Amino acid sequence: MIIIESIEEMQQYSIQLKSKGKTLANVSTTGFLHKGHMSLVDIDKENADKVVLNIDHIDPYNKFKQEPSKYDQYLEEYLTEQLDKDLELSKQHGVDIFFHPDMRKVYVSQNTQIHSNIKKLRKTYKGVEFASPNISKSNLKDFNIIMPDIIMMGQKDIFQNLEAQFLITDFNFPIKMIMVPIVRESDGLASSSRLERLSKSDRKNARSIYESLKDIEEWVQQLDSPSIPDIKEHIRQKIIGANGQINYIVICCASTLEELGFFNSKALIVVDATFGNTPLSDNIIIEPKDNIKKINNKPLNSEQKVPLWDGPYRKKPGEYS
Ligand code: AMP
Repeated sequence: MIIIESIEEMQQYSIQLKSKGKTLANVSTTGFLHKGHMSLVDIDKENADKVVLNIDHIDPYNKFKQEPSKYDQYLEEYLTEQLDKDLELSKQHGVDIFFHPDMRKVYVSQNTQIHSNIKKLRKTYKGVEFASPNISKSNLKDFNIIMPDIIMMGQKDIFQNLEAQFLITDFNFPIKMIMVPIVRESDGLASSSRLERLSKSDRKNARSIYESLKDIEEWVQQLDSPSIPDIKEHIRQKIIGANGQINYIVICCASTLEELGFFNSKALIVVDATFGNTPLSDNIIIEPKDNIKKINNKPLNSEQKVPLWDGPYRKKPGEYS
């Protein structure tokens, strides 16, 4: 495994590889690697000649907005406490290039703004902070620095995936994106470095996120006409009943992110809830053929459309308890 720290060296490597007719796949991460990340690497290996794993998702000027100098401390801690573990796991999974640049050199300008399709979603779900509003910026940087032919992204961070896909399509990047299913722990929770922050009881309670999504999956198979407000209410009750605080529940069309009144197209359900102090996110995609069948092919009219968003749950945690 080669370790690259400079942007120029990464670009040179990519150009040379491509001049030999070889392909490069990329898994972009924030480090603190776990089996979820490594599942992307494993799929990468089957799809390209070489695999880059990079630790470059952090924009120091955004993450440490109040005090950019804190990036030094973050970097120091990462280098002394985590880097070796991430290197070891990357080696075990056959990563070819471990790319770990100084993020101050990647994010030279503090104010770059790129149109974000996630803004569309924000308009509908007012008050909701979707993860990584700067994801297009970091994707564009990866595309130009690593120049991958293929990128793997986990369904776990579904909004980041969709944002990358919009970017690739809108700006004609010659990149193929593959979405990799969520890797889960034995109790059903999506693998994440955040799970380590949960107390024993919070961890047990946090299962309610995945359980509520599984309930919906079954429900959609069983009911003739599942109502979106009922579905949201079920998720809400289940999580609040397990002492969780709901940050948002989004139900939208999985490809366009348009508001969805009924399950008449591929539906994406994303739940973000906090247990203890740890926010956790999970999602499912429900395929339309099941749903359409279950609504007995009834035509859907505009009156059947119901508002999906009725205020930021974060502000009223007691309301549904
Ligand atoms: P992060 O380091 O959290 O930014 O994640 C880097 C990549 O790994 C993203 O594409 C994530 O969607 C993916 N990822 C993180 N956790 C999981 C998981 N449990 N299963 C599958 N992919 C994951």
